[in-house]
Amino acid sequence: MASAAIAQEAMLEVRNPRTGQTDHRLRVSSRAEVAEKAAGLRANHPAWEALGIAGRCGVMARWLGAVKARAAEIGEADAADTGGCHTSYIQGFITVANIGGWLKDAPAAFEALTWEGMSTSMPTVRIESQVVAFPLVGVISPWNAPLMLALLDAVPALFAGSAVLLKPSEVTPRVIEALFETVREVPELAAVFDYVTGPGEVGQAVIAEVDTICFTGSVPTGRKVAVACAERLIPCNLELGGKDPCIVTETADLDRAATSVLRGAVYATGQVCYSVERVYVHESVHDAFVEKLVAQANAVRLNADNPRAGHIGPFTFAPQADIVMRHIADAKAKGAKVLTGGEIEAIGGGLYMRPTVLTGVTHDMAIMRDETFGPCIPVMAYKDTEEAIRLANDTQFGLTASVIAGTAEEAEAIGRRINAGGIFLQDTFLTFAKLGTFGSDSFGCSGYGAPRIGPESLRRFLRRKSLLTQTGPVADIQDDHHLGKPGE
Ligand code: NDP
Repeated sequence: MASAAIAQEAMLEVRNPRTGQTDHRLRVSSRAEVAEKAAGLRANHPAWEALGIAGRCGVMARWLGAVKARAAEIGEADAADTGGCHTSYIQGFITVANIGGWLKDAPAAFEALTWEGMSTSMPTVRIESQVVAFPLVGVISPWNAPLMLALLDAVPALFAGSAVLLKPSEVTPRVIEALFETVREVPELAAVFDYVTGPGEVGQAVIAEVDTICFTGSVPTGRKVAVACAERLIPCNLELGGKDPCIVTETADLDRAATSVLRGAVYATGQVCYSVERVYVHESVHDAFVEKLVAQANAVRLNADNPRAGHIGPFTFAPQADIVMRHIADAKAKGAKVLTGGEIEAIGGGLYMRPTVLTGVTHDMAIMRDETFGPCIPVMAYKDTEEAIRLANDTQFGLTASVIAGTAEEAEAIGRRINAGGIFLQDTFLTFAKLGTFGSDSFGCSGYGAPRIGPESLRRFLRRKSLLTQTGPVADIQDDHHLGKPGE
């Protein structure tokens, strides 16, 4: 097994995306350490679950206080990890909102999952159905939005009554270290929430120890995770990549559409799973839309001078810049035109790219088929609505999609026919609106498992257990009358 190759006390150098220097070191957890931590968490799990939802809420409320007190510090660590864009600095406060939201919602969500009553198929049998938590949940998280994407799974798992072992990306470990300063302030929580560090092999070691997995990352790694979970017959929840389309119809307000597409495509340097990755515009308004988009794209500022100002930060993961450049080179070689950006700018050790608008693109190009995960906006003209829907659905992915039209009704009629879990109408990038309210599934290769947002996401960490009591006479070996008769 690959994890056997992990050397004891091995260290990894961690690059700073803003300076390009390796200014942080990460200890690689050995396989034995992963196993030991998992065993400790597993041993502490029964007491955590026995607290009940009210008791766990009390502990989580104390954690919320600790996170609030260090929210700014956590934001600084997130910015150091990711290279810093304005959202990095509010990650501590997003965590506060995440925990606070579950404090409000978890008791009722839990209550809704229990049921008591008489069986309909065997009327003398009373059923008491309840949910019990998987003892140990493994969370494996990516380098983009490293804190938020770890906690979207870990926080509800803890509320559900599970212990959690987290494996963050080796690219962005600083913010998790800052977070665990707050966890250590609440001993009951520290007993059931821990993390291990290192490369992918450490993720494999986590899978070998836990009872269920929540993984967020790329499709290729997601496949490996699914296979490893299948071998152990444990469930896995996968949140993977996307190639999210946006359709702009001929009736759309083009200023509104350009503003929304630009934000949806280049926010956080395009390193967001639900970024707009391809745009389809009706041929009659294609040129006018592109003109407006280019004008707005040219006004976007890099934040190289001041991470708290400007719009676009550096690539968090340096190799991502190569992937983006490969997609652009492939598109150019096949006839696409690059109207803005399109180059890597190395500034002070960071790798930056301005919004990159491309036209003349086709579905033969990687930039229209594979996840780019950079600030690229390839725009393609379509002839009629049927073609727009066909192009939007011509993908292996199905995470989110957007439609911007003259009216909400027109957008809705198109949106209903797109195969994706979240369809944003009259805007892009609305995933945040679902937080705490309602989750959605991922279609195609974008994911697998139950929604990770909203009250029903708790179900990922719970198994249903039913107690069935016979309140009537027991049946003898020949007596099937209580099962009904054939044809009745
Ligand atoms: P990766 O798939 O490379 O890595 C994700 C995590 O898995 C990291 O912690 C990584 O460790 C770990 N890992 C790597 N190999 C293995 C393995 N064999 N077994 C177990 N764990 C392993 O993704 P990225 O970090 O590059 O993240 C970007 C991707 O995440 C994009 O595709 C993006 O679309 C997707 N994503 C999806 C979201 C969603 O909700 N659908 C949200 C955000 C991102 P290490 O980094 O240390 O190698």
